[in-house]
Amino acid sequence: MKKIHSILLTGLFALTLVMCNNVTAKNNENNNSKNNVNMKFEKVALPYETDALEPVIGKQTVELHYGKHHQAYVDNLNKLVVGTKFEDADLETVVKESDGAIFNNAGQIYNHNLYFTSFKKNGGGEPKGALAEAINSQYGSFEKFKEEFNAAGVSVFGSGWVWLAKDASGKLSIEKESNAGNPITKGLTPILGFDVWEHSYYLDYQNRRADHLKALWSIIDWDVVSARY
Ligand code: MN
Repeated sequence: MKKIHSILLTGLFALTLVMCNNVTAKNNENNNSKNNVNMKFEKVALPYETDALEPVIGKQTVELHYGKHHQAYVDNLNKLVVGTKFEDADLETVVKESDGAIFNNAGQIYNHNLYFTSFKKNGGGEPKGALAEAINSQYGSFEKFKEEFNAAGVSVFGSGWVWLAKDASGKLSIEKESNAGNPITKGLTPILGFDVWEHSYYLDYQNRRADHLKALWSIIDWDVVSARY
């Protein structure tokens, strides 16, 4: 009887040791995964309240688009770069040099950081300074430029972006991009981008992309956008 008791006790002791080891292993795993995930890629802080762009971009759209979609790109990229050559690269380098899933998520972080900082409450009006001069000189007028930009945005098939970009000499161009595309991959500098993914307008405009693009001009922060030229 004593022997059985002693065997049981030894067994219990061994079991306790195994369980403790498991807990320790789990803790190490958690710590390691925390240390391994590079949290350097972040989304830009939203420079206005989530309802500031109403009614052009509704509060719920901003909450989902900035809070969920944009956050998902950031979370995805931080996981995807672990163990790759992009682990310590800056975002622009990742966008220029990657492809596949890393490019898609990096591109979307870069695009949405530009996008969400292009607006403000009671924005609108017209471009300023050198950008205004370049638009007038190349497109004839701001109105004509807007028409051409909107038409390009409407004609992007499926998900993507329409961008105003400049080259090294300051020459402007309107660039249509699919999915996560951005003109920096062509050596151009993006000035302004309208998101034509349905997630950016569907709650407010349903299928009326053209109406949404027309309305976006009334919330542009031209101080910020003109300074990118
Ligand atoms: Mn988007």
